Amino acid sequence: METTRRRPQHSANGKRSEQKEQLAQWGRAWEVDWFSLISVIGLLCFAPFIVFYFVMACDQYECSITQPVLDLYQGEATLLSIWARAPSFSWSAAKIYAVWVSFQVFLYMCFPDITHKFIPGYVGGVQEGARTPAGLINKYEINGLQCWLITHALWFANAHYFHWFSPTIIFDNWIPLLWCTNILGYAVSTFAFIKAHLFPTNAEDCKFTGNIFYNYMMGIEFNPRIGKWFDFKLFFNGRPGIVAWTLINLSYMAKQQELYGYITNSMILVNVLQAIYVLDFFWNEAWYLKTIDICHDHFGWYLGWGDCVWLPYLYTLQGLYLVYHPVQLSDAHALAVLLLGLVGYYIFRSTNHQKDLFRRTEGSCSIWGRKPTWIECTYRSADGGMHRSKLLTSGFWGVARHFNYTGDLMGSLAYCASCGFGHMLPYFYIVYMTILLVHRCVRDEHRCSSKYGKDWKRYTDAVPSRLIPGVF
Ligand code: NDP
Repeated sequence: METTRRRPQHSANGKRSEQKEQLAQWGRAWEVDWFSLISVIGLLCFAPFIVFYFVMACDQYECSITQPVLDLYQGEATLLSIWARAPSFSWSAAKIYAVWVSFQVFLYMCFPDITHKFIPGYVGGVQEGARTPAGLINKYEINGLQCWLITHALWFANAHYFHWFSPTIIFDNWIPLLWCTNILGYAVSTFAFIKAHLFPTNAEDCKFTGNIFYNYMMGIEFNPRIGKWFDFKLFFNGRPGIVAWTLINLSYMAKQQELYGYITNSMILVNVLQAIYVLDFFWNEAWYLKTIDICHDHFGWYLGWGDCVWLPYLYTLQGLYLVYHPVQLSDAHALAVLLLGLVGYYIFRSTNHQKDLFRRTEGSCSIWGRKPTWIECTYRSADGGMHRSKLLTSGFWGVARHFNYTGDLMGSLAYCASCGFGHMLPYFYIVYMTILLVHRCVRDEHRCSSKYGKDWKRYTDAVPSRLIPGVF
């Protein structure tokens, strides 16, 4: 168990929360080692340029990620000449982005969910999140599916009826929009950082490591809010990034049609597979309240900038690539990709569903036609309370400890393989997702081990593999 002390905070009853420091330390890291610190500073300085590099490589080098380096090496280009050739900030892009974000805030705040009243099986409206390390249970207004539906209905109404703007608008402003997303990403992270010091929503759930860079990047406040309902994590995690994901792909598809007069099967595959993933996200938004992003991560640059910039730009690289390289796949290739994507999605969803069902029913359910098996655990929250929990050891959770990540990775590989094998750029996504999910796996297991102690050890003895049985 880590031993660093929590920065003293005054709680509502005047006592210092320092008194509770030893009670629950299973949230985010308290100590920052040198390796983490160097990585954090490196990411804060260079991550925007990584995103720029990929988009610029498509714009100037037809999506070759090696050619810019070769040109620089051979003296045919300089960093300044590459920068000068890239479209710059534009006020028209700023207006588009301001309208987009304001519209998403408007939908999020002003339209309480009604879809759950008429879509059978959908869980929306006011829902509870998981217990925080301080022992709180937050309420959330779940209306992501409704926002996604309204936004996409308007998009199609515009494309086919109103013609207020071209459906290629996103592609046509892609690099100028990168400036705007970065401005919002850094602004919201900086605001969250200042807010955590001056007026945190819940001081008991703040974490200060003593390292300013780490605090800025990984966040201090657990659930920053403005007012009762504007929850930073829920808003930025899902919208404007994930609602935009499918619109960005549609804009790429429209651009392909405009440039070549046809749409390739690869573009359709990317649009369909990623739309399934996005719709799954909104259909299960209430369930996402119990995932690591919402119930364990604090809100800082990692989530704020990541949701505004990294996600919309790098999760959509396949569609962007296909605008420059309209690959038409053979039927066999297309079918194989579709199967890989659907099987991956099935594993991802079923694994997540099994855990959700098991936790909701406290084990009174059937998994793969049998009564589930589990390990009983206890843990302590910062208010001193002892709680009980269960770790499932049957179904996909008996195959590996994070088989949901394995399914996610299969789906990610399918997006990349939709683009054929001509360039490396579309494969960045699977490389990135592998690093993200392996790192997440290690991070999560470290947290679970601190939370559950010897009970976690019993679980890892019962289910020894993390992602691939017998391999890792
Ligand atoms: P999980 O849904 O796997 O949640 C991990 C948590 O579940 C643990 O912290 C623990 O929490 C609990 N848990 C662990 N083992 C068990 C068990 N055997 N039985 C019951 N509960 C258990 O992880 P994530 O939140 O990271 O991921 C959710 C989904 O989102 C995944 O499918 C992932 O692939 C996807 N994802 C996608 C990303 C993307 O960018 N596309 C990014 C991140 C995630 P507790 O404290 O409650 O015990």
